[in-house]
Amino acid sequence: MRLVKLIANLGYGSRKDIQKAIKNGWVTDRDGTALKADSPTAHEDILFDDEPLDPAPGMVLLLNKPLGYTCSTKDQGRLVYDLLPDRFRMRKPVLSTIGRLDKETSGALLFTDDGTFLHKVISPKSEVPKVYEVTLDRPMTGTEAEIFSSGEMMLEGETKPLKPAQLDVIGKSRARVILNEGRYHQVRRMFAAVGNHVTELARIQIGGLTLGGLAEGDWRLLDESGKASIF
Ligand code: URA
Repeated sequence: MRLVKLIANLGYGSRKDIQKAIKNGWVTDRDGTALKADSPTAHEDILFDDEPLDPAPGMVLLLNKPLGYTCSTKDQGRLVYDLLPDRFRMRKPVLSTIGRLDKETSGALLFTDDGTFLHKVISPKSEVPKVYEVTLDRPMTGTEAEIFSSGEMMLEGETKPLKPAQLDVIGKSRARVILNEGRYHQVRRMFAAVGNHVTELARIQIGGLTLGGLAEGDWRLLDESGKASIF
């Protein structure tokens, strides 16, 4: 891909802006040699304003989403995109979340600009398990694990039963829930269906990928082994 298009697609500015940056010598290789619009240079060797370029298309990143942020590009209020560099919102292909978390759910949230990867993660065929830590309004009755794992649980307004889900009790009103699908507000609705109420919800794992000490509000790029650990 030509240099102007490559850099413009990363959100550094319009093609005109990039042409100007190249003319001004702001786009260089790692030795500081100014690049021309038709210089064939590998992405990782290009510097813009002495800084390496943002990741090439095909990136996957993991955010530790805090409470109060919406998984949307244009809702009012705080958006998960506010936690990423501004340029990431201007990228082509577009950087989107892989699935969503509710505004009042925290934890592991993936983003990618790779449509094939996105579909692989969310495809029911992949059955990527997602692990949630749940705090409840009142103690569990002891029947929840059996109901959740039955494969017969119906949520209000739906016609298809839920796939079996695993519930591990970690306290009287605390549990870990492992889902193999992702329906709207699923964890909250599952507990509502058994007469309880979720007061805190955090996703702690997607497939084999954990937050690994990532602080709330921080994000990191996944390398090939990070991506592979999801499946
Ligand atoms: N289940 C929910 O209820 N909310 C989420 O954000 C994720 C799973």
